[in-house]
Amino acid sequence: MYHQRIRNSFTCLKTIENINFSGLRAIVRVDFNVPLDLDFNVADDTRLRGAIPTIQKITADKGKVILMSHLGRPKNGPEDKFSLKHIVNHLSVLLGQKIHFVTDCIGDKADEAINNLSDGEILLLENLRFYPEEKTGDVDFAKALSAHADVYINDAFGTAHRAHASTSVIAQFFTDKKAFGALMTKEITNLNVLEQNAEKPYTAIIGGAKISGKIDILNELMAKTDNIIIGGGMAFTFIKAMGGKIGDSLVEEDKLELALKTIAKAKELGVNLILPSDAKLADSFSNDAAVEYSKIDEIPDGWLGLDLGEESIKRFKEVIAESKTILWNGPMGVFEFSNYAEGTKQIALAIADSTANGAYSLVGGGDSVAAINHFYLTDKISYVSTGGGALLEYIEGKELPGIKAIND
Ligand code: ADP
Ligand code: MG
Repeated sequence: MYHQRIRNSFTCLKTIENINFSGLRAIVRVDFNVPLDLDFNVADDTRLRGAIPTIQKITADKGKVILMSHLGRPKNGPEDKFSLKHIVNHLSVLLGQKIHFVTDCIGDKADEAINNLSDGEILLLENLRFYPEEKTGDVDFAKALSAHADVYINDAFGTAHRAHASTSVIAQFFTDKKAFGALMTKEITNLNVLEQNAEKPYTAIIGGAKISGKIDILNELMAKTDNIIIGGGMAFTFIKAMGGKIGDSLVEEDKLELALKTIAKAKELGVNLILPSDAKLADSFSNDAAVEYSKIDEIPDGWLGLDLGEESIKRFKEVIAESKTILWNGPMGVFEFSNYAEGTKQIALAIADSTANGAYSLVGGGDSVAAINHFYLTDKISYVSTGGGALLEYIEGKELPGIKAIND
């Protein structure tokens, strides 16, 4: 059922489908910002696997693939621990093909490596952020990168909200020879389901630590959703704003007024804003703390709410079961500690069940996706987004620089 909705939301994206890459040099911005372990092995290859369809389309056409990405946050120039050389082996195993690597992303070495590339071969350039010009969006740096190729492909949704040299500035040098990669296309078409074809009831579940990063999205979602469930640490700012006792739970004192305004706006718009009614408490921020349950607005001093209580879980699950469209961002508790993971787990399971019953579900955000992976539910969600900040900004209705640059 939701496949139909995806098709309906497919609005004229410039995609790689219609390009024949034969004999062309394609420079592809990918998101290879993967976690590495202490031995510099790839600890989670989700992002590498995400880039495979685009790479294979180009090699199948017998084009030349030039991959560029950032990795980590290098401060001043090259740092061995942030070298993309660490991912070369893993990527070549995934692709079943040799990956050429060059220790610079511009200059003579890069030029030579590209000249030596045959049709159907793949070259990975060194970390773009070894040049500060990448993040500042320097035009000359972007131009130097653009000189490597005939076509520009953006397949890095995770950085699409940044106006960096490789994610947006570079696009101006490829007037019509630019397109979204397969992953980027999938992200946009899925997000457009929420934007344009959300079947009702539409429920957004927003959690995580802080209101501050998510207040804009709450306001934006009010215009579109029927239910907004609020969990996680951010719920306590709402409870306190309404006069509840939250003990030592997480709170943003400077956001109390904003929380009240949000509640009032929900009422005005007829959106069902659902807060937890109870909580699992701990007497310290630790997995070994003493635990207790209480009503959400009667938390004694010395105790902090770290997870949903049973009544809240039950109520949230009922709403999720009746929903036809579900968006989830932000864990319902401190799920990193096993003793406070139950709320997040039960909500994830409820979303999976609802999806099995025909609802469309989209989950995004670094920690939320980690939770979904942790509970082995990734395959039971309609779409798991690779974006965190980019996803939130997209839903807030902002035009992402990485998307705009291709559309312009
Ligand atoms: P995402 O990465 O999915 O967008 P966030 O980064 O906004 O999610 O929030 C995730 C963090 O919120 C987790 O580290 C989690 O421990 C924390 N969190 C959730 N509930 C609480 C709570 N009740 N008290 C403190 N921290 C919480
Ligand atoms: Mg996070």
